[in-house]
Amino acid sequence: MKTLFTIAFSFIILCATSQVSLKKADADQVFGSKGEIYFALPGSAIDAGILTKVISIDNLRGDTVFAYASKKQFLRLQQGIERNFILLRHPGTLIDPPMTSDLREVLEWNYYPTYEAYVQIMQDFATAHPDICSLHTIAVLPSGRKLLALRISDNVNVEEDEPEFLYTSSIHGDELTGFVNTLHLIDYLLLNYNQIPRITDMINNIDIWINPLANPDGTYAGGNNSVNGAQRYNANYVDLNRNYHDPADGPHPDGEDWQPETIAFMNFAEERDFVMSANFHGGTEVINYPWDTWSRFAADDEWWQFVSHEYADTCQAHSPGNYMNEFDDGITNGYAWYRITGGRQDYMNYFQQCREVTMEISDVKLIPASQLLNHWNYNYRSMLNYMEQVTYGVRGIVTDTITNQPLEAQVYISNFDKDSSMVFSSMPVGNYHRLLKAGTYNLTFFAEGYLPKTIHNVVVTDKESIRRDVKLWNGSAIPAFSANTLTTHAGGSVQFTDISGGNPTSRLWTFEGGNIATSTAPNPTVIYNVPGTYNVSLYVSNSIGGNTLVREDYITVNPDYYIGTLNPTTCYANFFDSQGPDADYTSGENLVTTFTSADPEKVMRISFSSFDLENTSGCTSDVLNIYDGPGIGSPLLASLCGSEVPEDIFSSIAGGSVTFSFTSDAINNFGGWNAIVRCDSGVGIHENKPGNVRIYPNPVRYGSFVVESREAIQQIDICDLSGRLVYRENSDSKVLQIFTHEIKPGTYFINARTDKGVVRGKVQIIAE
Ligand SMILES: [Zn+2]
Repeated sequence: MKTLFTIAFSFIILCATSQVSLKKADADQVFGSKGEIYFALPGSAIDAGILTKVISIDNLRGDTVFAYASKKQFLRLQQGIERNFILLRHPGTLIDPPMTSDLREVLEWNYYPTYEAYVQIMQDFATAHPDICSLHTIAVLPSGRKLLALRISDNVNVEEDEPEFLYTSSIHGDELTGFVNTLHLIDYLLLNYNQIPRITDMINNIDIWINPLANPDGTYAGGNNSVNGAQRYNANYVDLNRNYHDPADGPHPDGEDWQPETIAFMNFAEERDFVMSANFHGGTEVINYPWDTWSRFAADDEWWQFVSHEYADTCQAHSPGNYMNEFDDGITNGYAWYRITGGRQDYMNYFQQCREVTMEISDVKLIPASQLLNHWNYNYRSMLNYMEQVTYGVRGIVTDTITNQPLEAQVYISNFDKDSSMVFSSMPVGNYHRLLKAGTYNLTFFAEGYLPKTIHNVVVTDKESIRRDVKLWNGSAIPAFSANTLTTHAGGSVQFTDISGGNPTSRLWTFEGGNIATSTAPNPTVIYNVPGTYNVSLYVSNSIGGNTLVREDYITVNPDYYIGTLNPTTCYANFFDSQGPDADYTSGENLVTTFTSADPEKVMRISFSSFDLENTSGCTSDVLNIYDGPGIGSPLLASLCGSEVPEDIFSSIAGGSVTFSFTSDAINNFGGWNAIVRCDSGVGIHENKPGNVRIYPNPVRYGSFVVESREAIQQIDICDLSGRLVYRENSDSKVLQIFTHEIKPGTYFINARTDKGVVRGKVQIIAE
């Protein structure tokens, strides 16, 4: 903050007399037992571009460079330039803040935790919320201290179609506001799951990772029980935020080996697929967005300014008037501030396709413990906003057109992406997340061995998500086929049609249970003789490659049914008299079979292809009766004999049954029948439409009522509501008078059989 900023400058002015020539300084004396020093180089801002390669620049104020150096760096600096420098008190020793190892006190957020308390509280978070939180050890350092991360998500430890997000803090060990803030954030998220809908949504929809302490050896350089003595560098006096592979300056821009922390984090980033992250620092108050190493702007510069301003603006709205309001209203392009190389931010952006930003959240690196809660209050809304940004932009899953398997694909926006700003889909789910500022974009998807695919004119809106799932095709033939029916009967035939894509040049069908078993024809006809369910497969290929489509249990071959045997639920059956199609039925039969529609939306339709029963008037010798329901008490649909093949007969209730009852007398046996019983929509059965039978008067008070039909009524059945037959009359008239004295008062169904089928109605008979 400004006041502290002023104090710092006053301090420098006061100490102006203590300016010492670099060349004349004795490094042993300057360092004493210390491994790193903090100092100012007045008038050196002009040389920051060179100095940044030698020492670790922390800040620029006016023309003064503030920096850290290890002894090795200081010796190089002495060789390089002649300047006066001012040795400053190390920021990690300015205060001796209250520490606690009591976990309840840690959760009051007015203390810095001891190292052991930090480790313990991380474990406790995971233990207390095992469903949504798990603890991960990124690395154990040579010192024995650990790099820890908590993973917070629903179905934690399951890879889902969710973007991965990372918060990490205090890669500079003496910049500790973010350390406590991220611990506080963990606590806040876990406690508010299923309490605050927004937090619940975030945990359900984001794979959140939080690493509160990226440099524990630096932070606890003064011992595990105090952060007094915290240093910027790690145990080897290397600035970890200058130790990464740099997009411009190569793998070792600082001339140092990769440190254990650096290797651990690079491995961590390789294993995960972070979409967005931030690393927290202190020493000033600004959101520093890419790039740090280049003057050219990031492809997503507009988006970066948008999300950075959102962070800073929200902080400003919830803090004293001068918090985070310097630079460009609280944000800065990294290079425009001062160049650094080997920073984590650029590494994550360039090499990991992760949108990482550097967040400087307190002017003072080691703030008094009493100010920790204030800084949480300034920042937590912004921390949530920034995290939520990972759910916006364009997202989707990339899969193989043929196998539907997820693919690792590059998502590239032409005339937009540059400097490694493309993203990749993440395995094993195949999900991609392209964060974008509002606009219209063309996204091209590339995967090795696949034809590229461009999705044009994807319209992105700020703070909204748009989904575009993408299928990529490798160019090989895509098998597909259809059949004219999926069910048949023994001896029935099915015609298949090849509708494959990709211009197949060869083809091979395989028909399990079929006659023929294989074919290379485009539209083969296959006969099935044995009841069962059968797979059909089709292999097709072109010059690029071939694929096989197997459709399991694709064809169902129903058995033949003989009256008196099974009572099937089916949508297709061949139905015969007791001796089948090749023999006459026998004497004295009295057999019943019920078919039930396997399709709840359809009625049953009976189609006879042959019919031959002993013919007697009124079918008194041999007769096949068909009932509209599950038994012979159901309304009679037809009573058949003779040799005339009946027209199709329909049941009336969708998903219902039809019952056949056959009786034969002692002599004169005939061929019987062949019929198909199948499900049918019943659409177009005019007989079942209301209005084709008139009943009057209705209700009937006494005497008689009249049933009138357009066709001659051969037989009329009157059934009660339970389906029991109470009255039957045969006739050959279109108008029938029924006398009510034979029927008790009540409501009845009228089923009148005509030569066009059954007509129906309802009558109410009222007591006199
Ligand atoms: Zn820093």
